Amino acid sequence: MSKVHNFSAGPSILAPEVIEASMEGIRNFAGTGLSVLEVSHRGKEFVSVVEETQATIKELMNIPDGYEILFLGGGASLQFLMVAYNLLETKGAYLKTGVWAANAVKEAKYLGNVEVVASSEDKNYSYIPKTYTIPTDADYFHCTSNNTIYGTQMKSFPDSPVTMVCDMSSDILSRQVDVSKFGLIYAGAQKNMGPAGVTVVIVRKDILGKVSRAIPSMMNYQVHIDKETMFNTPPVFPIFAMLQNLKWVKKCGGVDEMQKRAAARADMLYAEIDSNPLFKGNVEVEDRSQMNVCFVLTDESLEEKFNAAWKAAGISGIKGHRSAGGYRASMYNALPLESVEALVNVMRTFNN
Ligand SMILES: *Cc1c(COP(=O)(O)O)cnc(C)c1O
Repeated sequence: MSKVHNFSAGPSILAPEVIEASMEGIRNFAGTGLSVLEVSHRGKEFVSVVEETQATIKELMNIPDGYEILFLGGGASLQFLMVAYNLLETKGAYLKTGVWAANAVKEAKYLGNVEVVASSEDKNYSYIPKTYTIPTDADYFHCTSNNTIYGTQMKSFPDSPVTMVCDMSSDILSRQVDVSKFGLIYAGAQKNMGPAGVTVVIVRKDILGKVSRAIPSMMNYQVHIDKETMFNTPPVFPIFAMLQNLKWVKKCGGVDEMQKRAAARADMLYAEIDSNPLFKGNVEVEDRSQMNVCFVLTDESLEEKFNAAWKAAGISGIKGHRSAGGYRASMYNALPLESVEALVNVMRTFNN
């Protein structure tokens, strides 16, 4: 099989050695002679996987004391609801920068009052609003660090007067963030952390226990914290595979190195989009994402020709999301620069 350049938006590319190490765990887990698929999550071998995964996330992201790290099911989408369940008493404040942010707003409304402090829906989510005020009577402020579908990214975070909550599903571990600015960070693993099936929640303990509603057990962060993220059977294999990926990130040089690689990939592709008259970007330049690069053809009649050319070059997964159209090249941590070179090469030559 020839090399596939995997630009999938998620679940997304993992390094070959991460896939290899995950397969080895399926064959023979931690020397037990058993598969990681068939052992108790409460056995000492798997408990130590959970602890090592938490410790590695803490180390890679420089997480201060006072935070807990949970591995939950239900995807980032369940967090839209769970955040509100646990934190919304008077009002939740939301920055609406895309479809995922809009879904977070929608779910929070099941629990109470929501104020959208700013939205970029007026221009098809092609920019990040920057002039807004976070109300001091809100229980929390929710934002989305990277808008996977539209290709915009928050380059900085506001100094929030209330607890800041962030959906970092699609750029976690790709750049340094100051975790101490946030009360809660969550991320579906399948974009930059591992395979689908586990969602990472990083929560500062002191923000919990302040709402008056009764919280069902599975929805309650404190219940999961009290049971060391094993209130019920956790997603065992996704956690194991995620650990292989975290070890790979660490071995490569950590988040600093991931940030350098992301910048190199993004600079290369945006430079081509900006200099090649056959293409143009469709979001505000200063808000461009380093993870998901969205662009369109300037002449739509070239679509078939371009599609045939990138497919022939072994490129996979660059068709835009159904709600954005055009093209989207998702360039997560494990995507080699040579895959970006292959795409750029096609963009330069397909119409010759
Ligand atoms: C993919 C994605 C989601 C949805 O994640 P699920 O795990 O499928 O629920 C939410 N937010 C962002 C920013 C995403 O990229």
